[in-house]
Order: sequence, then C-alpha cells, then structure tokens
Amino acid sequence: MEKNEIYSRQPLILIVDDTVKNLQVLGSVLKAENYKIAIATNGNQAVITANDINPDLILLDVMMPDLNGFDTCKKLKSIPGTSEIPVIFLTAKVETEDIIEGFKVGAVDYITKPFNTYELKARVKTHIELKISKDLLEQKNIVLKKLSITDGLTGLFNHRYTTDALSKLVEENNRYKELLSIAMIDIDNFKKANDEYGHLFGDEVLVKISNSIEGSLRKTDMVGRYGGEEFLVLFAHTGLKGAAESVERIIKNVENLKWDKEGFKITISAGVCEKKDEDISLLIKKADDLLYAAKKRGKNRAEYQIIL
Ligand code: GH3
Ligand code: MG
Ligand code: MG
Repeated sequence: MEKNEIYSRQPLILIVDDTVKNLQVLGSVLKAENYKIAIATNGNQAVITANDINPDLILLDVMMPDLNGFDTCKKLKSIPGTSEIPVIFLTAKVETEDIIEGFKVGAVDYITKPFNTYELKARVKTHIELKISKDLLEQKNIVLKKLSITDGLTGLFNHRYTTDALSKLVEENNRYKELLSIAMIDIDNFKKANDEYGHLFGDEVLVKISNSIEGSLRKTDMVGRYGGEEFLVLFAHTGLKGAAESVERIIKNVENLKWDKEGFKITISAGVCEKKDEDISLLIKKADDLLYAAKKRGKNRAEYQIIL
C-alpha cells in the first residue's frame, strides 16, 4: 500500500457489543467523526469479523454472554491475523482489578460506560493515529528491507544477499547432505556492447538479461547480481544434472532475446558445479574457473565440473 493510501483511507473500527442500542449510539458518534464502522454482537463473531476485515481498532464490550470481552481479547491476541489490532475495552466495570485485567489480556485502553462522547472521541483518535503511524513505519521497513537486499538497476538480489543465501545453503548441505549446485554467469563481450552502443544501452542489456535469467529459473532457484555483468545462480536441492539442464535453457533464452538495435546480438557463458566437500569460497572459485574455461572455449556455452 502506498504511503498516501494509508493516510487517505478511512480508518475502520469494529464495535463489539451484545446490546444493539449501544452499537447504534457508538456507531453514530464515530461515523460522525468520519470513521468506517463494522459491528459484531458477540465475541466469536468479533474474532471472525476482525480476521476478515482487519480493522484499525476494536471497541470491545467486556460483559457479554458466552465469550466475554477479556476472553475475546485473549483470542484476538492469539491469532496472527488479529493479534496486532489495538483493542479498547468498553466497560461498566471500573474496579482497578478489572482495568488491570483488561491491560493484562492485551488492551491498549479502556472507556467506561456510560461513556462521555468527548472522551470516547479523544481516545479513539489517539489510538487510530498510533495505528496509522505504526502501519506507515511497517510499510517503510518493508521498502527499506527490499532496498537493502536488491540491486538498484536489475532488481535482482544484490551481492551480499546472494552470498548470504549461499552460505545458508552450504550449511544445509554440510549438515543434511542436501544437493546443491551453483552457476556463475558472465555476459560475453559486454565491454564491446558498451563501447559500441553506449553505457545506457548497456544498462538496458543488463536489465533484459537479468529478467531473462530470472524468468528461466524454477521457483526454488535464485539468482543475484554478483558483480557488474556477473550473476550467481543458486540451485538448491539440485545436483549437477538438474543445474545443467537449467543453465542450458538460460543460455539459449539469452541467445534468442530480440533487440531493437540493428544487428545486435549478445550471449552469456557459465561455469556450473555441484558442491562436494569444499567451503563457500572454494565453491565459488570452482564456478569461476569453469566460467573462465567456457570463455576460453568460445563463449555462449557452459562448462561443468567433471564428476569422476
Ligand atoms: P568477456 O566476454 O570475457 O566477459 O568480456 P567482457 O567485455 O564482457 O568483460 P570485461 O570484464 O572486459 O568487461 C565487462 C564490462 O562490463 C566492463 C564494464 O564497464 C561493464 N559493466 C559492469 N557493470 C556495468 C553496468 O552496471 N552497466 C553497464 N552499462 N556496464 C557495466
Ligand atoms: Mg563479460
Ligand atoms: Mg565479468
């Protein structure tokens, strides 16, 4: 959701009360404040509705038949889909221990009945504003997280994220003897493409090749931009044969890309190996050496480790 969408959307409040009259009164006060209102008349219905509509705030009556407000709140807090929704208790109980109980089960505030309209509006406003700030912060964190792990030009995972992912796979491989293969891919004669058509076109080529490689992979494989025009592909749970099939497909797909520059063609080469007993840097070195061999043997091809 865009930042302004969070700001501009009408906050949604779920009111829970077994007395219809209370729902009507509360509903009309809050609607007049430009909140969207949903209602539930018992605790179980409240949990289901909250999970469905994801309100920004829940006003929850304490005294209700079957599931009372405290138990409803506990239930809301125990479900991942509803646990973060702030709850304000509406309560005729003003004993300190009732109030403490309310906070203990996870409420953020309480309003005593019969309520004062100004107090109700003020408390609701405060908690709605807090909720919106929290949503914005979460959204920013998601964007920052994405920025910190992706490469700006190609949108692929960046060098650090890719090598971290490889470390985890190597650990898995060491511990559980899971199959693991990798491919180091490098664009052929890319310098020439830059020199002849300009750096901007070179960037376009990088993006298109990145998309093509990504589009050629299976769900469990991943690719990152390892360096300038180098890509590291991780084939989790895959032996050399499976990786080879994928890499042959990747190479063909790049070779067959269509370009709008007259006479322009570009290819890639790859070094592909399966992890045996080596550590991560030796594994990458092995893929690099194989890539170098593929370049020496004419490019637009892959070299594979020989299994004796
Ligand atoms: P080879 O077939 O042996 O790999 O030759 P090559 O020309 O591809 O390799 P070389 O290492 O000589 O050149 C790589 C070029 O990639 C040089 C560099 O300017 C270019 N490059 C690296 N990153 C980027 C980028 O982000 N954008 C553009 N346009 N070019 C880049
Ligand atoms: Mg190159
Ligand atoms: Mg290179």
